[in-house]
Amino acid sequence: MEKGYTEMADLLRYGAPTVSCIVAITALVISIRLNHRQRQITRLEIARNLHGELISDAAMKDRHTLGTIHWQNRPISSEGTERGEVMCAYFAMLWRFERLHAGRKVLLEENNNVHDIALTILDRQIQTHVADYTCTFYEIRAKLEDSNKNDPVVDDRYAISFKELRKSLADTADEDTRRKLMYHTDNSETCGCSCHKVNPKPPVPAQHSQAS
Ligand SMILES: [Zn+2]
Ligand SMILES: [Zn+2]
Repeated sequence: MEKGYTEMADLLRYGAPTVSCIVAITALVISIRLNHRQRQITRLEIARNLHGELISDAAMKDRHTLGTIHWQNRPISSEGTERGEVMCAYFAMLWRFERLHAGRKVLLEENNNVHDIALTILDRQIQTHVADYTCTFYEIRAKLEDSNKNDPVVDDRYAISFKELRKSLADTADEDTRRKLMYHTDNSETCGCSCHKVNPKPPVPAQHSQAS
């Protein structure tokens, strides 16, 4: 009886707390796993929204405006509304990339600068857009300045942000993509974009408002 009593006392003293402790640890592990899963879902959702910046209806319209001039390699008319419209689209796209860069930076920093699945997917989705706009911004900016020498394009701050995004993407990109992302960093580098092979098309005639 004496022995049995001692065993019971020991079980109560050590065993019972141990059992509840295991239950608590199990609950904690499950909750950490759930939080980990929840965090992953949230990060994927943020990444999806960031990519959404570039493929929204408004972005498609601006991309069409810039893309047409970029790929036809034609000058921007200084008459009519074209220059103003191109200027608007140019800045709207710069701001989209700025928001994208800011959001991506938060995702990176929040994960100790390690690429998780959300960042890997995001980078894969935006890489081509960023590489394409490395040339687009450069060419459109030059054309905007050519079309009116008295009205410079004041985009320094946003251009810096786009450059940071390119550099950050280049860090983990393959060699070919890295070179595409780093083009136009200075005048000594040759851009591989096909737009340079296109003979410049004539400017679209300015649209004058109808006389009433
Ligand atoms: Zn180029
Ligand atoms: Zn180009």
